[in-house]
Amino acid sequence: MKTYLPSKFIVERNPERCIRCQVCVNQCSFGTHCYDAAEDKIRSNEENCAGCHRCATFCPTRAITIRKNPMEYRDNLNWRPEYIEDIIKQAETGGMLLTGMGNDKGYRIYWDHMVLNASQVTNPSIDPLREPMELVTYLGAKPESVELDANGELVTVIPPQVKLEVPVMFSAMSYGAVSLNVQESLARAATETGTLWNTGEGGLHSKLYQYAGNTIVQVASGRFGVHQEYLDAAQILEIKIGQGAKPGIGGHLPGEKVSADVSRTRMIPQGSDAISPAPQHDIYSIEDLSQLVYALKEATGYAKPVSVKIAAVHNSAAIASGMVRAGADIIVLDGLRGATGAAPKVIRDNVGIPIEMALAAVDSRLRQEGIRNRASLVIAGGIRSSGDVAKAIALGADAVYIGTAALIALGCHVCQQCHTGKCAWGICTSDPALTKRINPDIGARRLANLLRSWSLEIKDMLGGMGINALESLRGNRLNLRGVGLSDTELAILDIKAAGN
Ligand code: SF4
Ligand code: SF4
Repeated sequence: MKTYLPSKFIVERNPERCIRCQVCVNQCSFGTHCYDAAEDKIRSNEENCAGCHRCATFCPTRAITIRKNPMEYRDNLNWRPEYIEDIIKQAETGGMLLTGMGNDKGYRIYWDHMVLNASQVTNPSIDPLREPMELVTYLGAKPESVELDANGELVTVIPPQVKLEVPVMFSAMSYGAVSLNVQESLARAATETGTLWNTGEGGLHSKLYQYAGNTIVQVASGRFGVHQEYLDAAQILEIKIGQGAKPGIGGHLPGEKVSADVSRTRMIPQGSDAISPAPQHDIYSIEDLSQLVYALKEATGYAKPVSVKIAAVHNSAAIASGMVRAGADIIVLDGLRGATGAAPKVIRDNVGIPIEMALAAVDSRLRQEGIRNRASLVIAGGIRSSGDVAKAIALGADAVYIGTAALIALGCHVCQQCHTGKCAWGICTSDPALTKRINPDIGARRLANLLRSWSLEIKDMLGGMGINALESLRGNRLNLRGVGLSDTELAILDIKAAGN
């Protein structure tokens, strides 16, 4: 059927610079560029351009510029182009619209409406270049109090803790959704920087067991790749109930992506669809969740923290309270802007709440109930910078997960085409011709560099506040002020307005 949709992008090729090397032809996995041998010219099929910038990045003469198609619709605040184009797509396909990455709607990003404090005359700032700054974070339940014997030795039994050198971990991204080279890059960077990466729901590839010391394994509704060796390898066991990109929705890895390697790792037949049901079929109550939490603890000798991940939704605070009482040692909240390899667009764009609100509500509720010490709080969903990390810690998080930011470090330009399986950067694909575009040596270096940069920046911000340990910033909302927020928003975030 002929499409009625205009091209999203215009491909401009500077004829003065183009040497017809065909690099763009070979680099584009969406079929945007082609070589016209008869005329010895490179031509563009602009309707195929995903705006991923792979061609422009690798063009040796920088001859390519990708621009948004400036073709305008008549101004209409109700019938905005996105709605018109979505309806055209649905009229042409008859299917649900799928998309990749996270919510791109204009919901308020509260990180941009909060500012951090800095010391001036009193409580002087600390120079992180000259004085030691501590970013170490321990994840796991903490005792109410600690008791020491006469010799100063610890008497209290401390529940299992996992040490992070930097309060930033890599989010769950499963093998199959991302390539093995991406997972290896994440695992190696986590090992190098003293943090953790997360298998996601697709099992742990045999090649990655060597990074077990820095691995979180997920137990999701499909139970793919879950076995004793897998659980034993982990530092943290994560039960996935929901994710921010698609709250209440399951997952589906199409059979064509289930290669021999993926099938071995997931323990499903090659070529079969990997369907993750929306609910965990054995969890319909907090008591059921508790049974799974304790089954995992029992299976691993009560030696590892168990984490439970939910999407940030309206009643996250009450749910989180129940999760702590069910025995979860770590609560993971994944917000509205969390990303995924594939989600129904209508769910991604309309379901869930901003992570900032969920974090503030959950931290406050657990404090009010006197159980905040019984679980660490980890948040995810659109963390973009070290500034967001510092604000998240001040708002009450123990640590954050990054997914999209990590993929951007690997090359992703957030073109939102992950669900097509054609990722030109070799990230969200299982096509061997594309996956080899990620070199784990280079990938791990780029990711480790990102975490190092953020660590330096967090230390700078802490020093500016006159704080020398991240622990002292955690939940310290006095170090935050709101800018341009309503009284209701300030009350939920439990921070003062700037000027107060
Ligand atoms: S990569 Fe650049 S120089 Fe090579 S053919 Fe394409 S536009 Fe021309
Ligand atoms: S992972 Fe690849 S397909 Fe997905 S948004 Fe990034 S560049 Fe695009």
